[in-house]
Amino acid sequence: MRFTAESFKSQFPLFAQPGNRELVYLDNAATTQKPACVIDAIADFYRHSNANTHRSSHRLARRATDMVEQVRLRAAGFLGAASAKEIVFTRGATEGLNLLAHSLCSRLQPGDEILLTTAEHHANLVPWQMMAERYRLALRYVPDEIGVPQFDRLAEALTPRTRIVSLTAGSNAVGFRADLGQVRAALAGKNIQWIVDGAQLVAHEPVDVHSIGCDFFVCSAHKFYGPTGVGLLYGRESLLRAMPPWQGGGEMIADVDLYSSRYADLPHRFEAGTSSLAAIAGLGACLQFLDSQDRLAMARHEQQLMHALHERLSQVSELNLLSTATNNLGIVAFTHPRFAAIDMMQWLDGRDIAVRVGHHCAQPLIRATGHSATVRISVAAYNTHDDVERLIAAVEEFVRHVGDDNDVQVGVHSGGAAVDWVADCLDAVDIETLRAQRSWQDRYRILMGWAKSISRKESIRRSENLVRGCESSAWLAHHCENGVHRFALDSDSRIVKGLGALLLSQLNGQVGGAVARADLEQLFVELGLAQQLSESRANGFRALLDRAFTLMERGPG
Ligand code: PMP
Repeated sequence: MRFTAESFKSQFPLFAQPGNRELVYLDNAATTQKPACVIDAIADFYRHSNANTHRSSHRLARRATDMVEQVRLRAAGFLGAASAKEIVFTRGATEGLNLLAHSLCSRLQPGDEILLTTAEHHANLVPWQMMAERYRLALRYVPDEIGVPQFDRLAEALTPRTRIVSLTAGSNAVGFRADLGQVRAALAGKNIQWIVDGAQLVAHEPVDVHSIGCDFFVCSAHKFYGPTGVGLLYGRESLLRAMPPWQGGGEMIADVDLYSSRYADLPHRFEAGTSSLAAIAGLGACLQFLDSQDRLAMARHEQQLMHALHERLSQVSELNLLSTATNNLGIVAFTHPRFAAIDMMQWLDGRDIAVRVGHHCAQPLIRATGHSATVRISVAAYNTHDDVERLIAAVEEFVRHVGDDNDVQVGVHSGGAAVDWVADCLDAVDIETLRAQRSWQDRYRILMGWAKSISRKESIRRSENLVRGCESSAWLAHHCENGVHRFALDSDSRIVKGLGALLLSQLNGQVGGAVARADLEQLFVELGLAQQLSESRANGFRALLDRAFTLMERGPG
């Protein structure tokens, strides 16, 4: 069947649900939606064949075992492995990388080196850091430019002590595709184990581990239309055979006595405990589904969307694109000098456009770009050109209307002699105006307007004032004189400032105990903020509330 985004999308029931028909889902690098066949396979497993997979057991157990081994075989074909023995089921890419780090590093000598890149997902950094500390190994990094690894210079970072090279095939934060051919050439003939983190790659193109030439490859099913809770680890059979198991338990043993055990054959020795069997059933359906799709046409379509996004966003005033359209798997990342990424996300969410903001579990890379958070748009084959148009229109509208002026009023109330800040004037905060707004967009605009009442206050941006629970940074300082409470707030997010202005308009100048916390929570719900703000924002508001009440209870400060 000829690929069209519309017919592909029609196979994903989530988009047909009444609440989701207008949804523009552009958070695919975090997880993709699932086609009906995957959802059905999971339900069918529980409905018809649920049993644990102990070998040579009753009818249902044999059926479940057969299913798991069939999916393994299919997965071997999907990744181009030589046999099913080379495929280990994991919980996902993270578990695959932890397994490799624990098992491989236990055989290394102090001073041996592991080569990574500055663009790795934390899943391909933290396990190596943990093992480096445990076994006194050294971590080295491929030379980079603003965090982006320069694969043509990889050889410069290799030394006679390099034992493992573990790198991503594609950045989840800025989308670049690694030049695996260059890596293969640099490692040719060397006694180095090469791991590819394929978490982002698999959704976007057919993978053949044999032609990549790597020793290990990990991925997560949920990133390529499969279920959460299952992933694949490919390893060359000879290498897997030489590796000690990572976790111990049932299923991975051949024989156990009180002081020692013999392990099961490959690949089961790496699968301790009961696997996520229904998820494996769903993965089987997903692999079958992908096999029946025109994957090259899918990739072409995604590339068109990604190019269109780059082109259109590059025309938005002041917007700073961190990704480039060349060699990109389908991810666009940007910042705007006048807005925190979270503010943009919240606005888009109000338009039912799902994107992600933050450091995307790639902090070293994002930091190297000079930012702490970006807006990330990531495409899948079910996204349409209409999705791109809606996103662009919403971004333009945000920049035009919400950010039309960024003046900050200067506060007028003195915080008192004992403090070095000035409480903001919150006269602009009129709750009735907010209450009168019909749409979330209008309420959002009002909140962003109130944000202007909160001035920048270097003096309170200190760790002791940092409010935990806020996704973006927020600082709250407190002063109490003659029983009157005053607060000073600052944040790098305008929506947090807007919410904070609302909160402080109720608290500033209060005499202890006059306002009940429950009333403020109720107000938050009444104003329709709790329903519309993402869980993390709503938690951010509660965190500010908690902090304010803790400070008030603590008394004069
Ligand atoms: N590596 C990369 C490049 C990723 O994008 C992700 C997930 N964002 C992971 C590893 C970890 O995947 P999971 O959370 O499914 O284990």
